[in-house]
Amino acid sequence: MHIPFNKFYLIGKEETYFSQALKESKITGGGKFSNQSVQFLCSRYGFNNLHLTTSCTAALETAALLLDIQAGDEIIVPSYTFVSTVNAFALRGAKLVFADSGKDNPNMDAAGIEQLITSRTKAIIPVHYGGVACDMDIISGLAQKHNLTVVEDAAHSIDAWYNNRPLGSLGDMAAFSFHETKNITCGEGGALVLNNTFFAERAEIVLDKGTNRKAFAEGKTDKYEWVGLGSSYRMAEPTAAFLLAQLEALDTVQKIRKEFWNNYYSALTDTGLQDFFSLPVVPQYAKHNASVFYLVCSSRTLRDKLITGLAVAGIAAAFHYQPLHLSPFYTAMQQKPVVLPHSEKFGNCLLRLPLHANLRTDDVKYVTDQIIKILN
Ligand SMILES: *Cc1c(COP(=O)(O)O)cnc(C)c1O
Repeated sequence: MHIPFNKFYLIGKEETYFSQALKESKITGGGKFSNQSVQFLCSRYGFNNLHLTTSCTAALETAALLLDIQAGDEIIVPSYTFVSTVNAFALRGAKLVFADSGKDNPNMDAAGIEQLITSRTKAIIPVHYGGVACDMDIISGLAQKHNLTVVEDAAHSIDAWYNNRPLGSLGDMAAFSFHETKNITCGEGGALVLNNTFFAERAEIVLDKGTNRKAFAEGKTDKYEWVGLGSSYRMAEPTAAFLLAQLEALDTVQKIRKEFWNNYYSALTDTGLQDFFSLPVVPQYAKHNASVFYLVCSSRTLRDKLITGLAVAGIAAAFHYQPLHLSPFYTAMQQKPVVLPHSEKFGNCLLRLPLHANLRTDDVKYVTDQIIKILN
């Protein structure tokens, strides 16, 4: 028995679309497959302005460039997240202010954010962990009150919702990931959503490597020049062709993933093992997308024992983020240590179970049986 933690899922049309893309006269971005992928996402989620990028990291870096961060500007970010959430802004010189996770949810604790806001705060970067929405009413309210920008790190959040609104539509900007480990993939890829026209206009320049190429192409200027900071972040056409095939199969993939997520949840409910682990808590306002299934173990020792026990049974289970406020790079820059107990708890105790569309129902049952067996 071998159950991999993740395996990318091919739905069928990837090869066909990919080879069609190779027959086009251009394979840079912005061709017909890129346009169809953009169209798909915009019409399904009501986005007005979306750009495909080479990764979610690239989308976040674009967002950071658009924020026009100056030395001393602060951003509020969760500590319990992937490094790209903060690297993108640290690259521009932002000072990182870490928010703790909630008590029973890895997302940043919205109630603790206001005390972190200073006159230098520029933006709040909520990460919807596992596609479970952050408390966006509180976060948007604070942003409005203090005149801050909100950038959603929606890397996990395709087809996930906050009340009736899709994640990615709630901040001024949002970044999605189509990395191999996410629900929908094209190998490496991402998308930047711009919900604020101020950023939407400037994004054309950043994404055109700091030039006014778009204005030139539209005949609005007679020269094509360097007009600001920018970089090369656009997704190429063959990748977009692969992505389109995956997007067209989104409902199929989501149905499978949700079924497995629900199977995990119900098999691990009422096991009499509540002293050893707790199950994900999904707030009322969130409709998640089965991006991650996790347990929160009662201790790090128990979490590590489960990882080892499951490995012996042929199951690859995994911990997740190491809190960034404890990372070597951050602690080396800091004078005094930061203590964020909930983030640290998730760092020590969170265990992810295999969740991908290649699993079979029996695999999920085997995993939950093994967990129960190990803990008994
Ligand atoms: C995966 C991930 C990213 C980075 O996505 P890439 O597409 O690999 O750049 C950023 N933030 C979070 C929370 C992620 O999980």
